[in-house]
Amino acid sequence: MPGRKRGTEQYVKLTVLMNCGPWLSVPPPGYGGIENVIAALVPALRRRGVRVVLVSVADSTLEADEHVSVFRSGQFAHLQRPYNQVMGIAAAHLDRVVSELRGRDDVVLVHDHQEALGLTVLGALGPDMPPVLHTLHWDLRKHPELYGNLRGDGRLRVNGVSFAQLTTAPAALRAISVGHVHLATPLAVQADRRPATAKAGHLVVLGRITPYKGQDVAARIAHRLGRTLVLAGPVGPYHTPAELATADDSNPDVRYWRESVQPLIDGRRVRWVGTVLGEERDTLVATADATLFPIDWEEPGGTAVTESLALGTPVVGYGRGCLPELVESGRTGLLVAPGDEDALAAAVSAASAVDPQECRREAARRFTPARMAEKYLRLYGRILDRENGVTPLRSALEV
Ligand code: UDP
Repeated sequence: MPGRKRGTEQYVKLTVLMNCGPWLSVPPPGYGGIENVIAALVPALRRRGVRVVLVSVADSTLEADEHVSVFRSGQFAHLQRPYNQVMGIAAAHLDRVVSELRGRDDVVLVHDHQEALGLTVLGALGPDMPPVLHTLHWDLRKHPELYGNLRGDGRLRVNGVSFAQLTTAPAALRAISVGHVHLATPLAVQADRRPATAKAGHLVVLGRITPYKGQDVAARIAHRLGRTLVLAGPVGPYHTPAELATADDSNPDVRYWRESVQPLIDGRRVRWVGTVLGEERDTLVATADATLFPIDWEEPGGTAVTESLALGTPVVGYGRGCLPELVESGRTGLLVAPGDEDALAAAVSAASAVDPQECRREAARRFTPARMAEKYLRLYGRILDRENGVTPLRSALEV
């Protein structure tokens, strides 16, 4: 096993197996926080000489050194189905990851992004298998019995996507944490050199339509201030009004939409445009006066926050979760006390005082894929150092 021996062996290439899970292709077809981050990370790692074996679904188009998959396409539509229907999907995907690892000896580290099962199964493979770094993309108050009782057996390490997120982690999870790495977006690359985009006067919320993201709050504020608000993002697995019309009420996000958001949509002042992609998404955000985050949870990483800043649009929201780490209130956005709708409405009105160029500068400095890859390489190095008692990372990257 050339990549894993203890001792003084020099690595020629660092081969990392990147497990993306079976839910969406990489890059994702529209919505997809985790998959967007992986799509930003992998090219930046490969530019640094890392070989990446991407375990995803077959229609992922991200360039990698090798692709492995079980499912032809993303299984996201099943994600909110009952557990007894969906568990086989997650297990089939992971089973493929395990057989891949058992069948080869070049992978020196597994970087895993599959919720709950990834760290359990891959962390338990034993000393013959590569060490695992599991990135925690989730609210860590989920799965208390799992996160509260993890042992890790020395082979498993985790990282958060913000400092705030890790402060909510149970002690057992914190004990195997190697810190946090903020998310990144390709839009941040030279964001400060892009010409300023003319603002069109609307507000935007970019994200899943779910109580966590607070679209109902944003809609109420828009009506109150007489402002135009565009809501972009899927409702559960439904991406367009036509698709959503066919949905029954079993999905909790569909119920939230029907009960709390739809009554506030008038198609004029407050609109839902479904999931927006690519340039359409970027233009929608870049021309907005502000992106709103009236979040009702501890937002763990906030890809859409980094994207908004990179596109020169101030972030206005509740100061909880990762937001205070990503946004400096008064300079790149305005953050107010969580749940204070009056204060949020006042902040929306004051957002024009925030300089879009300052937002772009901040994104170019802090949220580029190269910066994220650099931090992950440091974590990989720490884990491999611990494994091998040598410093393989430097030689791995001298290619
Ligand atoms: N997104 C998109 N189109 C939409 C709504 C969302 O491309 O209509 C993307 C958005 O740009 C971001 C991701 O989906 O990259 C959402 O990730 P985030 O971390 O903000 O939220 P979460 O992972 O909690 O859903």
